[in-house]
Amino acid sequence: MKTPQEVPARTTLHLLFTLLVLTSCQEPGRNLRRQSDTRPAFEPLVALEAGPVYHLLDGYDPIWLERVRDGIETARAYWGSYGPTHVWITGSYEGAEIDPAAKRAFVEEYCGSRTFPDGMRLEDCADYVESRFLDVAERDESEAYLSYLQDTTPPRADLVFINIHKWFFETDPVPDPTLRGIHEYTHVFQSSFGSTPTWMMEGGAVFAEAWLPAQQGWRDLHGVMERCMESACRVEDPALSIADMEDVDSAPGKTIEYHRELAYDRGAWAVAFMIHESSTRRVSALRDKFYPSVTELGWEAALSRFVGMQDKQEFYAAFSSFMDGSIEDQIAMLDKLKD
Ligand SMILES: [Zn+2]
Repeated sequence: MKTPQEVPARTTLHLLFTLLVLTSCQEPGRNLRRQSDTRPAFEPLVALEAGPVYHLLDGYDPIWLERVRDGIETARAYWGSYGPTHVWITGSYEGAEIDPAAKRAFVEEYCGSRTFPDGMRLEDCADYVESRFLDVAERDESEAYLSYLQDTTPPRADLVFINIHKWFFETDPVPDPTLRGIHEYTHVFQSSFGSTPTWMMEGGAVFAEAWLPAQQGWRDLHGVMERCMESACRVEDPALSIADMEDVDSAPGKTIEYHRELAYDRGAWAVAFMIHESSTRRVSALRDKFYPSVTELGWEAALSRFVGMQDKQEFYAAFSSFMDGSIEDQIAMLDKLKD
């Protein structure tokens, strides 16, 4: 298992926040990396008919773009079209040096696609692309994340996928790069409304990785969610809960150790539980009712209204009781959810 990497240093080009795709609930031993997700106040993305613009490094196999696109377009068909979104895909097999002409073309494509904040020069942009897209590929590391650029109005979502071929296994029912596409695009959708807590963002994206492929008939919902539950149960301290993971940046050190289990694994179940507690039990109500009301009311009031509870504390308490129940009851809850 790869050592979790440090949060990359923010540059002035890498603005506001980055949401890493940490596809969770996977078999042990999978190559996962961890990164802090932050969620400061921000200008939301907007509804947009135009789909994402896809960019692929010359020389990297187009199959990886196709796999990612399958995920992004599946998620976009469900959540709706938001953006503007650009998708950047680079890679290099076993850290082979990337052809200089391909590098130059990629730098030009990236730097030509965006405006620069005050004081930023073209050379700075080129350095940024080298360090964040190309050097990572040549170091044979894999990354996937959403980078939120706010130097334009509306801001822009960049979905970045590097060396995702390393996450592909023939035996997977759904290619991992496709799941990463679903996960990241779900963040694009979420970022088009008001601010929500870390557990809801990551949990919602992981739940989408489980729900949408099941709806497509690609894989079974139960197995994926059971793996999430197993992982969620690895949190040893009974005092820790998703309530400690509202904002990963202000979470205390001990909580951060369980970032993945709390935000992604328990978060996925918490989002499923939210839907179960809502009046229609429809996942589409999350899209059509809950998120628009986040913009209107803020997430805490929107959550209370959606689940018909007095406040978030009541929700957290109800969810804790649910998590203490049997796996049979937990799986039975999933079966009551509708599309
Ligand atoms: Zn994520």
